[in-house]
Amino acid sequence: MSTADPIRSDIRHMKAYAVTDVPAGFLKLDAMESPYDYPEDMRKALGEHLAQVPIRLYPNPSTCGLLQVLRDTYQIPAEAEVVLGNGSDELIERLTMLVSKPGAKVLAPAPSFVMYRVNAEFFGLEFVGVPLREDFTMDLDAMLSAVQTHQPALVFIAYPNNPTGGRFAREKVEAIIAAAPGIVVVDEAYGAFSSDSFLGDAGKIPNLVVLRTLSKIGFAGLRIGYASGTPELIGELKKIIPPYNMNQLSLAAAEFALQYPQFINENISKLKGERERMRTALHAYPAVRDFASEANFLTLRVPDAKALFDRLYAHKILIKNLHGTHPLLDQCVRITIGTPEQNQQVLSVVAELYGKAE
Ligand SMILES: *Cc1c(COP(=O)(O)O)cnc(C)c1O
Repeated sequence: MSTADPIRSDIRHMKAYAVTDVPAGFLKLDAMESPYDYPEDMRKALGEHLAQVPIRLYPNPSTCGLLQVLRDTYQIPAEAEVVLGNGSDELIERLTMLVSKPGAKVLAPAPSFVMYRVNAEFFGLEFVGVPLREDFTMDLDAMLSAVQTHQPALVFIAYPNNPTGGRFAREKVEAIIAAAPGIVVVDEAYGAFSSDSFLGDAGKIPNLVVLRTLSKIGFAGLRIGYASGTPELIGELKKIIPPYNMNQLSLAAAEFALQYPQFINENISKLKGERERMRTALHAYPAVRDFASEANFLTLRVPDAKALFDRLYAHKILIKNLHGTHPLLDQCVRITIGTPEQNQQVLSVVAELYGKAE
C-alpha cells in the first residue's frame, strides 16, 4: 500500500467492542439477558408462526404490524411517532448521525452506557461525560452547568442507568430536558424493571426521544429497539434509517412474543423480586456495598472486584467486572439477575469469599 492509509486514523486506533466468548456450560450473568426460555409448547407455536413468514419479500418496518402492537402494549401516546431499530444500538447510532455537524457535542452522565461515547467518536463529535456523584445519583448542578457550557446537540440519559442500576430522579431529568438546547434521548432499556417512565411524554415534548428495547425482557436475540418522539423529530430520523433495517423473522417473532404478555410480565416480576431478595441477602456481608437498582442487575462494590470475578468464573459463572472502566466504578462488578437457583449460586460464592451470612 502507498503511504496514504485509506482507513480513518481514529478508527485505526480504536479497539473493537469485544463480545465475551462464553465457554460451554457457563452461566451468563454479564449482559442483562433474561434467564427464561420459552416453554416447549410456545417454542412449537413460534416455529409454526415463523414458518408462515414470507422471507422472500423485503420487510416494511415502517408499516409492519409490530408498530401497532408496541403502541397498544406499551400505551405509546397517539401524538408520538415510532420507528424501529435493529436493537436500540442502531437507533443510538442514527440519532448521533442526525446531529453530526462539525463541532457538535454529545453529553451524558458518566459512567453510563458506553455506546453513547463510542457513537459520538464514530461521527467525529466531542463527547462530554458529566460525573455522577459517588453514590451514583445524578449531580444536577454539574449536568445543568455542562449543558450551559457545551450546548450539546444531543444528550443521552439512561433511565435507569447502566452500569450503575439506579434510576435518576425524574425532576432532574425533566430539568435537563427543559434546559437542553438540542435533543434529549431518555434510554429506557431497563424501563420494564423501573418504577417510572418517560414513554407517556413521547410526542408531547419537542426535544424528547424515548428509546426502548425488547432485549432486556427476554428477546435480546431478536434485535428489536424502538424510538418514540414527535412526528417532526422521528420524521427526520426516519430519513437516515435504512428502509429494510429490520428482518421479517425478527418482526414476526416480536409480534408473536407480545401476544403472550403474561409470559413477559411474570418473568419481569420474578426478576424484580429476585433483585430485592439478592440485595437484602447481600446486606449480611459488610464487605459488600450494594447500590439501589431499578434494572435487572445489581452493581456492587467489593474489596477486590477481580477476586470476586475470578471466584465466580471458577464456578462457571460469568459476570461483568467494571473495575477500571471509570474512576467511580473502582472495585465494582455488575451481576445480571437470574433465576432464584442461579442467584443462589452467586450468593453461595459470595458467602465463600466474604464469610458466612449470620
Ligand atoms: C442493553 C442496552 C441497550 C442496547 O439495547 P439493544 O436494543 O439490545 O441494542 C441500550 N441502552 C442501554 C442503556 C442498555 O443497557
